[in-house]
Order: sequence, then C-alpha cells, then structure tokens
Amino acid sequence: DIVYLNGEFIPASEAKVSVFDRGFLFGDSVYEVIPFYRGVGFRLDQHLKRLRHSLSALRIPLEKEWQEMLEELVQRNGGGNLSVYLQITRGDAGRRTPVYDEWMQPTVFACCNPIRNIYAAGADNIAGIRVIVTADLRWHRCDIKANGLLPNILVLQQARESGADEALMIRDGVLTEGGSSNLFIVKNGVIFTPKLSSEILGGTTRELVLELAREAGIPYQETDLGYAQLLAADEVWISSSTRAVLPVLEVDGQHIGGGVKGPLWLRMYELFRQFHHQLMTGEMT
Ligand code: PLP
Repeated sequence: DIVYLNGEFIPASEAKVSVFDRGFLFGDSVYEVIPFYRGVGFRLDQHLKRLRHSLSALRIPLEKEWQEMLEELVQRNGGGNLSVYLQITRGDAGRRTPVYDEWMQPTVFACCNPIRNIYAAGADNIAGIRVIVTADLRWHRCDIKANGLLPNILVLQQARESGADEALMIRDGVLTEGGSSNLFIVKNGVIFTPKLSSEILGGTTRELVLELAREAGIPYQETDLGYAQLLAADEVWISSSTRAVLPVLEVDGQHIGGGVKGPLWLRMYELFRQFHHQLMTGEMT
C-alpha cells in the first residue's frame, strides 16, 4: 500500500506522524472519503467543496490542488475501485496545548481502501439492511466532517452488537442521520429527508439522490421526521458514498414496507446506475 503524507508518496509502513500532532491529541482535523471507480473520482467536486467548508470552519488555512494528488495516489495503488481516505490535521505543535498558532503547517494524509462497485452489482445483489434508532449524542456542528467520531463509533458498535448494520440517530424527537449515512423515507410516492442544518452532514450522496429525483420528476421534501413517521414509512433508505442508496428493511426489529425492497428504491438505484454509467463512459444508456 502506498499512502500520501505531506507531499510524498511512500509505503504505509514508512508513514509516521508526530505524537504532538493535533489530530492525534485533540481530533483537531477533518476528513473525506471519496470513491474512485477505475481511477475516476465519483462526485469529486462535491467532496472537495465539502472539504473546503470543513477546513474553513476549523480555520485551517490550506489551499491545495487536491485532484491531481488523489488521482496519482489511486494510480499508485493499482487504479481499480478504491475509496480514498483524506485527512488534514492542524499540524504538529511540538507540545500539547489547546490553543494554536496561525502559522502551523497542516498534516495531510491520504490512503486507499478497496471497495465494491455497488453500481455493477445489480439490484438483486444488493441486500436490504437493518437499523436501530438511538440517541444523537453529537455536538451541534455535524455539518463539519471532523474526526471527532466517538459518538458515531459508539452507535455503530451498538448497531453491530444488536445485529443491525446502521444506527439512525434522534435528537429531541427529530431524526438526524445515520452514524455514517443520511436518511430518507418514502410515503405515498414522496421522498422525505431531514433538511440540511448544523445537526447533519451534507452528504454528497444525499445531494445526488435529490438531484436525480428532481430530474426524474419524483417529488421530495426536506423536512423534520420523527420516529412514528419512520415506522409508518412505505420505504426507508440510507445513503453514503461507498453504499450509494440502500434499502432499510427493518427498524428496531420491525419490518418496513413488508420487509422487502421497495419500488421507489429500485427506481432510485437504477437512476444511480445510469448516472454512474454516463460518468464512466460518457454515454447515455
Ligand atoms: N452522515 C454521516 C455522519 C457520515 O459519516 C456520512 C459519510 O460517511 C454521510 C452522512 C454520507 O455522506 P456522503 O454521502 O458524502 O458519503
């Protein structure tokens, strides 16, 4: 495995970061996870836009040409279907102190992980998932893709220990999102999803779901959703970069939509597939 660290492409085993790096000490850092299919970044511009938002929210002054570096990293790792993990910390302060100096040099790290091409799988090969619902214990700047992921890790582990694949979080009676995904429900042919705010991450896949719905004339609303609406939904979906849009068949042990994948999910998955096909080939299907 070749990783990128502060301007160099090196074997993962040789990549070292200081114990005084603020990413390690304080989680003073942001990240992105970007899928590449056959070397081509999926929704790369949207990911880089969100990265600039996260960096500016932390006031990390870093202007960089990311695309070339990311593409080179993917090529050096074989160029197949890979997700790139990119993390930027405020840097190495040489000692532990909460306040920071403006002039710090950020640490930039990126590595690759193999991923399944979910668009090549075909709808029959996509399994529906189970979710649990649990309290959202996060801070109030969830729009920043920051590395302080302890609440997410705890709920995802809780989901796993209950035999579920994802945890949906709820705060003051309002559903926010999954531990690593955004939430959609379908009722009477309309798609509903929590509106963008500082309580959720603006998912790049969420944005694509809404773009594709708009183009296909499928009605949608961005609005508050509660637990009762979730259980009464015709369909529930989650979305994220590496999973595209997945059907949820069970919430807290109760079936959704009779426990089978819904028709609007199938339609949305096919719209995703077409979009992906066009990106890869420049052709219409
Ligand atoms: N919400 C959270 C908390 C996430 O961690 C993620 C990504 O993993 C998402 C939503 C989905 O974002 P995206 O579609 O850009 O991957």
